[in-house]
Amino acid sequence: MYESVPDNPYILLTPGPLSTSKGVRSALLRDWCTWDADYNEGIVQDIRRRLVQLARWRSNVDRCCSGKNENYTAVLMQGSGSFSVEATLGSALPPDGRILIITNGAYGQRMVQMADVLQVDYIEYALPETECPDPHKIGTLLDENPDVTHVALVHCETTTGMLNPLCAVAQVVKARGKTLIVDAMSSFGGIPIDLNELGIDFLVSSANKCIQGVPGFAFVIAKQDELQKCRGNARSLCLDLFSQWQEMEKSGKWRYTSPTHVVRAFHQALNELDAEGGVDVRYARYRQNQRLLAEGMAELGFQPLLPADLQSPIITSFLYPRPDFDFAAFYRQVKAQGFVLYPGKLSRANTFRIGNIGEVYPKDIQRLLQVVWRITR
Ligand SMILES: *Cc1c(COP(=O)(O)O)cnc(C)c1O
Repeated sequence: MYESVPDNPYILLTPGPLSTSKGVRSALLRDWCTWDADYNEGIVQDIRRRLVQLARWRSNVDRCCSGKNENYTAVLMQGSGSFSVEATLGSALPPDGRILIITNGAYGQRMVQMADVLQVDYIEYALPETECPDPHKIGTLLDENPDVTHVALVHCETTTGMLNPLCAVAQVVKARGKTLIVDAMSSFGGIPIDLNELGIDFLVSSANKCIQGVPGFAFVIAKQDELQKCRGNARSLCLDLFSQWQEMEKSGKWRYTSPTHVVRAFHQALNELDAEGGVDVRYARYRQNQRLLAEGMAELGFQPLLPADLQSPIITSFLYPRPDFDFAAFYRQVKAQGFVLYPGKLSRANTFRIGNIGEVYPKDIQRLLQVVWRITR
């Protein structure tokens, strides 16, 4: 069935859009109607139910904040991941709300920019990009600022590849009764997370990251009780999480045109996640990819930016091996051999990044290492 789908000339080692399977891409090759139950019930509602199931992924997670059983629901939203982060900040914060935003990279910074534009009151716990947020410090900040109602954290900070301490932060935040918003864009579906266990109120992720769909929409998994409180808060007509949720609850319909092909492809991607064995198996594959990559690159003279205990299995930042390293030339040579790398995004150090999520397997990482060896020897 997928024979007519052309092969890709290169593998994307970027953290989204990323390389997708032929099965996912083949879902884009025809037109689909959106008006009847085939789509609304069969695809949209099915996706929402399955996202909630994934949000309760229990097997491997640290048990740390076991709470009562909450009712979660999923809201799909047009646009890239940032649109859904903005929809969440703009809808979850009431007019008199105040949010603590934890930042140690570009995606935390983006939430600060959003709060500025939305005129949401915030305080920032800002760290250098290579430093991990300290949960005790967060507790102190919350105690010193009792008017803070919400806390936002990026789970995997894709800027560096750092995995922030979600579990410990959730404990501190939930012990103080604050609403927790997590940007799990580059981790959800690739790292086991149990929202109920952690008490997460809103989690945002998108179609084109670890679920391995194509770009075009994102989603928010939230406690129903928390979504109910969002009525009338939105600072935008389109990015209104509450209204989008209400419309989807009725019949699986989106407010305004849905990205049909992308949604179909995402449904196929969910099927393929199941077929792979679920989040645990995908997590194991990503970890194996990352370990092979980090070890192999170190042998070739490329040191990782982060110590291993802060490193996520999603994307790795490598320091330039020499001050005069020509990344542009290196990038071109590697691309010509079938791999697309990712430039760095750090303000202080010269780095580049290699992602290992998507339709990428250990054999691909081994081929990449051979290519890098040939180019740099
Ligand atoms: C990809 C990503 C986003 C969203 O980026 P878009 O370009 O809007 O899709 C947000 N946060 C993190 C941590 C990400 O990795």
